[in-house]
Amino acid sequence: MSDEALEPQGESIATGILYLVATPIGNLEDITLRALRILKEVDLVAAEDTRHSRKLFSHFGISTPLTSYHRHIEAGKGEKIIESLLQGKSVALISDAGMPAIADPGYRLVCRCLEEGVRVMAIPGPSAVITALSVSGLSTDRFAFEGFLPAKSHGRCELLASLKGENRTLIFYEAPHRLLASLQDMVAVCGATREVAVARELTKVHEEVFRGSLSAAVDHFSQSRVRGEIVVMLGPAVEEKPTETVREALERLHKETRLSRREIVKRVARDFGLPGSEVYRQSLELSAEEEP
Ligand code: SAM
Repeated sequence: MSDEALEPQGESIATGILYLVATPIGNLEDITLRALRILKEVDLVAAEDTRHSRKLFSHFGISTPLTSYHRHIEAGKGEKIIESLLQGKSVALISDAGMPAIADPGYRLVCRCLEEGVRVMAIPGPSAVITALSVSGLSTDRFAFEGFLPAKSHGRCELLASLKGENRTLIFYEAPHRLLASLQDMVAVCGATREVAVARELTKVHEEVFRGSLSAAVDHFSQSRVRGEIVVMLGPAVEEKPTETVREALERLHKETRLSRREIVKRVARDFGLPGSEVYRQSLELSAEEEP
């Protein structure tokens, strides 16, 4: 990092810019100096829940006008915000917690701004997804954020089945009342031993990070009613290495089962991910060697 990058940039609020301002995901001390200054200096702050954001404002002595921007009113309200920006007003967008536009309606406003040629600037800070991943103990080299899991079991299982073999860490946002059902679906689709981490109430008084197998997680979260905000992270799929060779598998199945050669070849080819013709060739070789 260059020395210049460590110095305050001394920017002044520019007109006609949408600032995406990160706010704390729990602990109010996790707000940046820059975020506080921008929130104080812009003409308008658009918030997911103005009642929630008023608490943040009163804590930090911010008196900038607040307007609401949430998923139920996003279309109409978005256009009013765009109008203000096009008239040269500066607007900050905040969500209830964390980085706006990540799994919340802010994304739509960002797209509309870009369509209208309005500049969008991020004022970075906490985000639940990155905070959770950092303490998960799961691989952080490669990960995929999947947003909120589908609310119904059928949709959830379908999605999980499509992601089952993923070799990156998978990250989901989840509601507390659905956590247990989701973990149970994960056991059904991905197996009881798959690694999982569940981060709950991060940066808050009752912060908890569970790390273990999916079956242990089901056990743990069955003990009492789950509360608070939650991020679930599934460890990468572990490739199961066959413990025997193709020849050993063929020999064992010939000895232990009454399956026909054709069925044995089919099963071994599937288990080893090999073409049937290759396994058939080895099976013939084996029989020839065994003949007296
Ligand atoms: N835009 C925000 C972000 O990622 O920074 C997230 C918005 S999303 C609507 C809210 C979800 O983030 C919650 O339902 C929960 O899954 C997760 N979340 C927010 N705060 C959290 C916290 N303190 N601990 C764990 N998860 C949290």
